[in-house]
Amino acid sequence: MATQVVDVAVQSLGKMKGNIASGMDDILSVVGNLAEGEESFDGENLDALEEMLLDYTSMERTLKQFTAAVSEVKAQLRDSDVSVEECKALLEAAHQDKKKDNYDKDLQSHSKVLEFRNKLQELREAQEEEEEEDEAGPSSNADQSLGEEELVMTQTEVGTKCPFTQQEMTNPVRNTICGHHYEKRGIDELLSKRKRFRCPLPGCNNKSFIVHEHLQPDQHFKKLLEKQRRANKRKQADSMYVD
Ligand SMILES: [Zn+2]
Repeated sequence: MATQVVDVAVQSLGKMKGNIASGMDDILSVVGNLAEGEESFDGENLDALEEMLLDYTSMERTLKQFTAAVSEVKAQLRDSDVSVEECKALLEAAHQDKKKDNYDKDLQSHSKVLEFRNKLQELREAQEEEEEEDEAGPSSNADQSLGEEELVMTQTEVGTKCPFTQQEMTNPVRNTICGHHYEKRGIDELLSKRKRFRCPLPGCNNKSFIVHEHLQPDQHFKKLLEKQRRANKRKQADSMYVD
């Protein structure tokens, strides 16, 4: 019977499923090790890791949908006698039907991808804190010179205003998918209107609609904003004396 051909194929898929799962876990543990300072890293390597993880989630989805298509075809055929060719055609049609609503954005909200991005964020925060500690030596004079971090933020002048409300952010939340920030009150209000919208930052690759699950309070960023505001005030005060 033709469906026996399918059964053999499904057995080998079981092994693939295991490989995909352990591949994803490997990537997450690499990021975990980075956070513990066991390995050095640069941004490019992290991007490559993320790409790999997204590939795995895509494979996992294909596998799930193919397996579902197989059960469907088997149930449909039961004991009827069809040729291998017919069986293949049915399977292909069932698989195509399952694939037709696949979008890349669905992969972006996969739990392992979110976990990966959260770990990355922790990694960056730990790194920034280390840099802050380095700056706070006895020789640094906080009143006369801006910290390196503040200087960078002042130079680029990015991300202190909410892209939705255009107001200075005081209570920022971070989009866990793309890492961009918005003012909590502004985005909550927009979400309460139940309209669908995406991250408005120019050049942002995140194509998912924003939902509450993507948003996280960001205390570290909040502190940075406060620091920058203080630095700007100092700058204003200084220029008053010059004039
Ligand atoms: Zn974004």
